[in-house]
Amino acid sequence: MTDTVEARLLLETVERFVREKLKPLESEVDQADGLDTPRRQVLEQEVRALGLYGYNLPASIGGPGLSLHMLSELDEAIGHTSMPLGEVFGHLPGSLRFCTAEQQSWLVDPLLQARTHIAYALTEPGAGSDLSAVSTRAVRVAGGWQLNGYKHFISNVEHSDHVIVLAATDPAAPLKSKLSTFIVDKSNPGFVMQRKFRKMGWHGYPLSAFSLDDCFVPDSHVLGEPGQGFQIMMATINNDRIYVASKCLGMAQSLMDLVLPHARQRIAFGKPLAEQPTIQFALADCDVELHAARLITRNAAALGDAGDPAFRIAASRAKLYASEMLGRVADRVLQIFGGAGYMCDLPVERIYRDARAFRIGEGTSEMQRLQIARHLLAG
Ligand SMILES: Cc1cc2nc3c(=O)[nH]c(=O)nc-3n(C[C@H](O)[C@H](O)[C@H](O)COP(=O)(O)OP(=O)(O)OC[C@H]3O[C@@H](n4cnc5c(N)ncnc54)[C@H](O)[C@@H]3O)c2cc1C
Repeated sequence: MTDTVEARLLLETVERFVREKLKPLESEVDQADGLDTPRRQVLEQEVRALGLYGYNLPASIGGPGLSLHMLSELDEAIGHTSMPLGEVFGHLPGSLRFCTAEQQSWLVDPLLQARTHIAYALTEPGAGSDLSAVSTRAVRVAGGWQLNGYKHFISNVEHSDHVIVLAATDPAAPLKSKLSTFIVDKSNPGFVMQRKFRKMGWHGYPLSAFSLDDCFVPDSHVLGEPGQGFQIMMATINNDRIYVASKCLGMAQSLMDLVLPHARQRIAFGKPLAEQPTIQFALADCDVELHAARLITRNAAALGDAGDPAFRIAASRAKLYASEMLGRVADRVLQIFGGAGYMCDLPVERIYRDARAFRIGEGTSEMQRLQIARHLLAG
C-alpha cells in the first residue's frame, strides 16, 4: 500500500506527529498516570485537522475507509508511542458500522469530530474469554430495555460519553442469538461508575468498572438488531486483532531503535556490547522475530482486504505471534540495557510493562491457540 504517493504521505504524517507531538509526552503521562483533558483535546483536534481522527472507520459511516493493510502500517507507526498517547488518533470501535443513519448523526458524527468519546464493554467478573457467561441482563420494557449488570476492565470509560454494552436479551438461547448490543449514555442515571483499577502498565489509559442499575435504554439506542450482539462483536474482532498485532510491531521496532545505538556505544570489558557474540545473537533473534511478525500481520491484513475466509485464522496467528514476539523482544532488550533498562529514565521498562497486556486483551494467547488448533484439527 505504501507504494502509492498518497499512502506514503499518510504514513509520514502519522510518523511525524508521533515523533514530534507525542513521544516528548510519554514519560510525563506514564508517571502522572494520566493525560489532562485540555491537552488531550488539543492533540485530538490537531489529528482531526490532519484528517486522521477516526482513521480506522469505514467510509460507510464517515471514516476514510482505509484498507486493513494501510491501517496495519499506520497502527505500527502509532505503536511507536504509548497506548494513552496513541489514543489521540481516535481508534473507534469497528462495531459502529452497524449504526443506523439516525444513530450516525447523533452518535458517530460527534465521535468523528472528537467532541464525544465511546468505550465498549464486554468483560464482567464472571465472563471474560467466555462470552456465553455474560450475565448483564436486558429485559424488554415499554419503549426500550432495562439493563442490570456489572462490567469491569473497561478501557477509557472514564472520559467517554457513551459505552457500547453487551448484554443477554435471551439468556436461554444459544450464544449466537442470546446477546444484544446497546449504546448506553454515561449520563444515564442507571449508569454508575464503580471503580478505577490500578494496573501494571498502560499508565494514563484508565480501566474502570461500572454497574447498570435498572438502566433504561430506549429502542433508538440498540446497536444492530436484538439478538445480534455476538455477531456484531465478532464482525470486527479480526480487524481488532490486526490492530493489536500492528501496535506490537511498532513497540518492538521502537525497542530495536533504542537498543542498537546502545549496543554500539556501551563499553564493557574494553569493547562495545555489540561486539559480544551473545549480544549479537540476541539482536539477531529480535530482528528475525520482528520481521516474521510483520510478514504474518501484513499477510493477514491482505487476506482481510481480499475478503478471503482464511483471514479469521490468519488474524489469530498474527495477534498471537506479534504479542508474544513483543514480550520476547522487550525481555531481551531490557537485558541488553542491564540496570539502565530497569530504571524509569529510559522508555524500555515502560514498554516492557505495557507489552504484557497484549497477550490478554482482544482474545488471550490461549484463545488464539484454541482457534488455530480447532481449525487445524477440523478436517
Ligand atoms: C489492558 C486491558 C484493556 C482491556 N480493555 C477492555 C475493554 O475495553 N472492554 C472489555 O470489554 N474488556 C477489556 N479488557 C478485558 C479483556 O478483554 C479480558 O481480560 C480478556 O478477555 C480475558 O478475560 P478474563 O480477564 O476474564 O480472563 P479469563 O477468561 O478468566 O481467563 C483467565 C486465563 O485462563 C485462560 N483460559 C480461559 N479459558 C481457557 C480455556 N478454555 N483453555 C485454556 N485457557 C483458558 C485465559 O486465556 C487466561 O489466560 C481489557 C483487559 C486489559 C488487560
